[in-house]
Amino acid sequence: MSDCIFCKIANGEIPSATLYEDAEFRVILDLGPASRGHALILPKAHAANICELPDELAAKAMVLAKKMVGRITEGLGCDGFNIVQNNGEVAGQTVFHFHMHLIPRYKGDGVGLGWTPGELGDKEKEEILSKVKA
Ligand code: AMP
Ligand code: ZN
Repeated sequence: MSDCIFCKIANGEIPSATLYEDAEFRVILDLGPASRGHALILPKAHAANICELPDELAAKAMVLAKKMVGRITEGLGCDGFNIVQNNGEVAGQTVFHFHMHLIPRYKGDGVGLGWTPGELGDKEKEEILSKVKA
C-alpha cells in the first residue's frame, strides 16, 4: 500500500524508534504513548486489520508480543501490561494497517482502557449463542 504510513515505517522508508525487527515485523515506540514504553507491533506486509492478516502472521504476532512484553517488563519495570488491538473505526482504529499495542502499566498510572460492565440477560444470551456459536 503506497500511501500507508505503517507500511512505510515497518519497511524502514520512514525512520522510527525501533525496539525489534525481523523479516516479517517491526516493533516501534508509539509516538503518542498511553504510558512509558507503549510499543506497536507492525507486520511488514500490509493487512488492514486482523481479518486480513494471514493466520501464520497472526500467530507469530502473538508470540512476538509475549517476547516484547518480557523485554519491556525487564527493561522498564512495569507492573503489568495491556495488549490491545483495534479493528475498525468504531473500535478506535485510526491507522488501517494491522498493529498490536503493547501498553506497559504502572501502579497508579491512571491509564484508562476500561468500560462500564453491562448485563447479559438470558434472552440475549440465547440469541447470541444461536447466531455466533461455532
Ligand atoms: P489505533 O488507534 O489502534 O489505530 O492506533 C494507532 C496508534 O498509532 C496510535 O497510538 C498513535 O499514537 C500511533 N501512531 C500514529 N502515527 C504514528 C507514527 N508515525 N509513529 C508511531 N506511532 C504512531
Ligand atoms: Zn500498510
